[in-house]
Amino acid sequence: MRLSWEPLPLDLRTTFRIAHGASDRRDNVLVRLDEGLGEAAAVAYHGETPAGIMAYLAAVGDIWEDDPCLLEDVWARLPAGSAAARAAIDIALHDVWGKRLGQPLYRLFGLNPARAPLTSFTIAMAAPEAMAEQAREAGLPIYKIKVGGAQDVAAVAAIRAVSPARLRVDANAGWTREQAAALIPQLASYDLELVEQPLPVGDIEGLRWLKALGLGLPIFADESIKTAWDVAAHAGAVDGVVIKLMKTGGIREALRAIHTAHALGMQVMLSCMVESSVGVTAAAHLAPLCELADLDGPLLVRNDPFTGVTYDGARLCLPDLPGIGVQKALVTKLTLEYH
Ligand code: MG
Repeated sequence: MRLSWEPLPLDLRTTFRIAHGASDRRDNVLVRLDEGLGEAAAVAYHGETPAGIMAYLAAVGDIWEDDPCLLEDVWARLPAGSAAARAAIDIALHDVWGKRLGQPLYRLFGLNPARAPLTSFTIAMAAPEAMAEQAREAGLPIYKIKVGGAQDVAAVAAIRAVSPARLRVDANAGWTREQAAALIPQLASYDLELVEQPLPVGDIEGLRWLKALGLGLPIFADESIKTAWDVAAHAGAVDGVVIKLMKTGGIREALRAIHTAHALGMQVMLSCMVESSVGVTAAAHLAPLCELADLDGPLLVRNDPFTGVTYDGARLCLPDLPGIGVQKALVTKLTLEYH
């Protein structure tokens, strides 16, 4: 098989500000493996850079099989290193697998696309009035609100005042234990669905302590969870976990992480980084296995060069084409509507 890669610069529709920092552009990497496509998201707070991803790809070597069904054999030979680069290769391998068998991935996994949960749409940190205006304008049924700043309660109150939507908050590791214990009950009074990653990565005991306080909101771990091993380590400490292909290193480990979470009584939110339709559509094929979805990456991007999963409001519509089902966009979607 022939592996190649190229830069995939993505411009964001609006400045994306979360507790980790702000950005207007992301430099992802597009991977091609024969006819398969994959994507790696260079997320700085996971220690990923475009250069690091490309260095990994350059060092992979000849690990391929002629038989595209021997995915586990190839996966076992992937060197350790960049999870995003491994995800890109794993996505491309699955794309080749589906294309050669002539079936969309969700069919190969035995999944019913109608069971995919509705996706949330992300509202990044800004002035509370601006965040509320975004929610009012979009008119969608689920929002993920980025918090972890000085105006968290004001932002949630402003959005709740203009929207009856299901609201989730994501602190992106931005609170201390004491802040989380004080803020969660205040936020819960605005009828929220859950809180994501209230505490810094690694503070499993803090999460367990918060959960035991019974503050009225289910707690999900995101940055703390990369692989199935991390899911197991958080058993009993959280109510749910956030799984992303860019953290697990692709679809195969995401499947293991999803099943591990369910076996341990935890819910799963399937999510993405800022990614084009390549990475997000690959993830969307697993959405029917998960209770919650946060797969709005292509809606945040102005210049997605591909089409794949589409959105009927918050409903995820999976493409019926073989593999991940992504195609080159005929026209760059400059004015994508998400109403
Ligand atoms: Mg998150």
